[in-house]
Amino acid sequence: MSAPRNGASSGCMTSAWSSIDYVELHCHSAFSLLDGASTPEALVARAADLGMDALALTDHDALYGAVPFVTAARARGIRPIFGAELTLEDGHHLTLLVENEAGWRNLCTLISRARMRMPKGQAALPWADVQHHTTGLICLSGCRQGPVAAALLRWDRAGAFRAAKRLRELFGPDRLWIELQDHLRKGDGALVANLVSLARHLGLGYVATNNVHYARRNDHPLHNLLMAMRQHVPLDEIPAAQRPTSESYLKTGGRLLPLFSAYPEALSNTLRIAERCEFELRYGLQDLPTFPTPPGLDAIGYLTRLCHQALPWRYGAPSERVCQQLAYELQVIAQAGLANYFLIVWDIVCFARIHGIRCQGRGSAANSLVAYLLAISPIDPLTHDLVFERFLSAERPALPDIDIDFAADRREEVIQYVYGRYGHDHAAMASTLVTFRARSALRDVAHALDLPHVLLGQAQQALDDAAQIGGTAALAAELCRQIEGLPRHLGQHSGGMVLTGAPLAARVPIEPARMPGRVVVQWDKDALEEAGLIKIDILGLRMLSAISEAVALIGQTTGCPPDLDRLTFDDPEVYAMIARADTIGMFQVESRAQAQVLPRLKPRCFNDLIVAISLIRPGPLQGDMVHPYLRRRQGIEKVVYAHPLLKPALEETLGVILFQEQVLKVARDLAGFTPGQGEQLRRALGSKNAEAAIERLRAAFLGGAAARGAPLSVAAAVFEQLRAFGSYSFPKSHAAAFAVIVYQSAWLKRYHTAAFFCALLNNQPMGFWPPSVLIGDAKRHGLTILPLDVERSVARCTLEAGGIRLGLSYVNGLGAAATQRILAARPFASLADLCQRTRLPRAQIERLVAAGAFDGWGERRQLLWELGTLRYAADELDLPIPHRIPDLPPQSRAEAFADEMATLGLSPSEHVMMFYRAWLDGEGIHSSATLEVCDDGQRVRLAGLCVVHQAPPTAKGFHFLTLEDEWGMVNVIVSPGLVVRDGRHLHGGRVLLVEGVVQRESDVVNLIAQRVAPLAVG
Ligand SMILES: [Zn+2]
Ligand SMILES: [Zn+2]
Repeated sequence: MSAPRNGASSGCMTSAWSSIDYVELHCHSAFSLLDGASTPEALVARAADLGMDALALTDHDALYGAVPFVTAARARGIRPIFGAELTLEDGHHLTLLVENEAGWRNLCTLISRARMRMPKGQAALPWADVQHHTTGLICLSGCRQGPVAAALLRWDRAGAFRAAKRLRELFGPDRLWIELQDHLRKGDGALVANLVSLARHLGLGYVATNNVHYARRNDHPLHNLLMAMRQHVPLDEIPAAQRPTSESYLKTGGRLLPLFSAYPEALSNTLRIAERCEFELRYGLQDLPTFPTPPGLDAIGYLTRLCHQALPWRYGAPSERVCQQLAYELQVIAQAGLANYFLIVWDIVCFARIHGIRCQGRGSAANSLVAYLLAISPIDPLTHDLVFERFLSAERPALPDIDIDFAADRREEVIQYVYGRYGHDHAAMASTLVTFRARSALRDVAHALDLPHVLLGQAQQALDDAAQIGGTAALAAELCRQIEGLPRHLGQHSGGMVLTGAPLAARVPIEPARMPGRVVVQWDKDALEEAGLIKIDILGLRMLSAISEAVALIGQTTGCPPDLDRLTFDDPEVYAMIARADTIGMFQVESRAQAQVLPRLKPRCFNDLIVAISLIRPGPLQGDMVHPYLRRRQGIEKVVYAHPLLKPALEETLGVILFQEQVLKVARDLAGFTPGQGEQLRRALGSKNAEAAIERLRAAFLGGAAARGAPLSVAAAVFEQLRAFGSYSFPKSHAAAFAVIVYQSAWLKRYHTAAFFCALLNNQPMGFWPPSVLIGDAKRHGLTILPLDVERSVARCTLEAGGIRLGLSYVNGLGAAATQRILAARPFASLADLCQRTRLPRAQIERLVAAGAFDGWGERRQLLWELGTLRYAADELDLPIPHRIPDLPPQSRAEAFADEMATLGLSPSEHVMMFYRAWLDGEGIHSSATLEVCDDGQRVRLAGLCVVHQAPPTAKGFHFLTLEDEWGMVNVIVSPGLVVRDGRHLHGGRVLLVEGVVQRESDVVNLIAQRVAPLAVG
């Protein structure tokens, strides 16, 4: 920032307003949740437009916006000043600005303390805590809620002096300034005069701020709206006197001068203060907790030893190539100072393994041999030709995150281990920023504006299709648009943990999460990454829980649980099953889209699985890579390369780009990019606002390609392909790690079908298909689904006589407590006995009857009658009155089915299509089984239950239906034109009749619809 152009105290009285030097030192962004109306970026942009040199950000009890603020400020050449407005326990406000490193630590600590003793979203700092944390902080005495101004406003002059003296004692005379604000409210001028007189009496400096809450004056309505939303009342009900004026926008010194013309120092002092705030938020790896190493070994020494110890376990006798790669990786890790980080992650994985918690690394960590040797990743990067630089590069400043999937049901144990090992002061979860969406904000906005209900629909329409309307509805719609993207509240990241050696609260503020016992840092994952703080993602994956459970079930029934980690990925039976798309329930390859691809791809080896899960991703789909790949694979189309130099990079994927890493390889081979440059390119392609960076890299790419003799047109075309591909794809390493789980789940389905499905049913919701479809598929594989039985079922589904017995947890609304009561009271003599001893509410018993849990005791309708004769109150139950049950007609199969669907969401014995089957056969309407023998091009009618309805954005208006019946699935393709005509019938959960043409293409049978209607029988 430039030196002040005038003497610090003389003031400057030039006539041109813009030349009055002034820095805004009290400024709220939208990160003052529901109080600020502009993003830090918008404020910085406005400050730059106004020609300001510096700007302070002082959100309420938060540094949420610090990273976007500093990023934007650096881009616009504005010097960022960090601060916050703190809320004290007595409700007073203080404005604090960070002078230096110590001040940052103290501010983080103070915010953390103010937050941690209050419920989520609130803050209250005890005065006693301020005392030891004032070093490096400049204190402005605050807004009208500041302790000094508030006292003056209640005419308590003595109290104001006491408050000012207290602050002077806490911060010292040179770091305390009396803060003056004038928003043209009644009394503002007098307050400023009184504050100045107080400051002069006490020999303190004074300074003007504008307590900014939005960038421009026209943002004022949005600020009013946020205030009404915060108070949950319509704006009209807030008394005019309590509503702020429209003066809280970012003003120049020139605009403020008339207000402070009697005290010009108040403006020039902002520069003196701004100059002193020289703290720079430095980026870089946090001081991680130091992992204990054996005597005589530092972190890298210990890491090296662990890797060498693991070499024989992974490789037997390791090759020269393995040893070279290991030495290289260890050197890069040492240089980056990350050995300690690896040890910390290794320790977490060790904990999980010792306690039988299934886990494996995902993402780019699988590019690392060190991660493979430490059993963090299940993938040998050398066998799969993975690029280490995608994970960690000597040239790249960014640091790697290691993401690990754990069995979802046991993830909490791992998180608690990390808390326990490093302490709650050193470990916290990353936060996620929940932002407003225009449409979902409408209801709140309408409430704040007291919008009549009839206008709500209008506003909705204006939002949806920019319909032309006027009046309040138009205002509501406009405000919804403005509010879009502003932060609403802070959530907890699904698994990202941040660890530090020094107390975390001094590095970045922490606050309580909604979940008891959990603490979050005030930054989300983007901010953490931007600031160079590493997190460790401890993610929960239900498939790992299901696999664990399946293995345990096999162990229970056979006495010999299989060791899935020793599978060799080469069983032809497993691949055959995947190739015929018999994949329902398997990890990643079970979807409708996969069922279309797999019979063409015909996977035969592990690498094919990596390809299969990488194909159905937005990048390859948008880049039109899928069909060329499949055609080339089937030999229908020749493998070609845009340039011969691309052959090494793209040979394994037949000339198309499938993996993120291939972006790096293409850039390397065609344009001579270094791995670090390639990584920069990949990142730029994947981020939304990197046009400038992409253009720069494009120039380098074209230049590099020309130097290697590639024609400009070819290089430009390849670059365009990379751009279309973006980064919406898996890194190969990530796909490889997932492919391990694909294979394991496929192997279980092939060889331990009952255990596989039982475990899947016990770990819902997960995967692509609902339990009813899983059950249908299990039956088609010859499994018996045994109905619910109150004497035999436990909470979970169990294996029984080779079949699966449904568990009580499938009964909607029964709950764990009721289930426990049933299990504890078993066995029962009769329905009356069960009611008497479990004391379950009548509604729950009725549900159990409808679910078929008492079928062993009699017919359902009779049981319900019997239940009706029992005098029944929650805690008392008379002995049953002797009675005779009348001869009721038994429930029909269809009625029983309907009851089961309502209470269980599935039927163990029936499929809805069975009730139509005789009629359908008579009408010559096809099923999934008879469709198999139809010819290509044949016109058919077919009926089935619609279990999936998809309209993926990449499908250009086409919709896809999956119809299910007793024998399997049929994929129905609905053209955009037909969607318009019959769209109202395209709903999941309905039985549909489709007329269409059979399309057969290499083992994939589709029905091209020409008419879709609900099935009408009769
Ligand atoms: Zn305030
Ligand atoms: Zn404020």
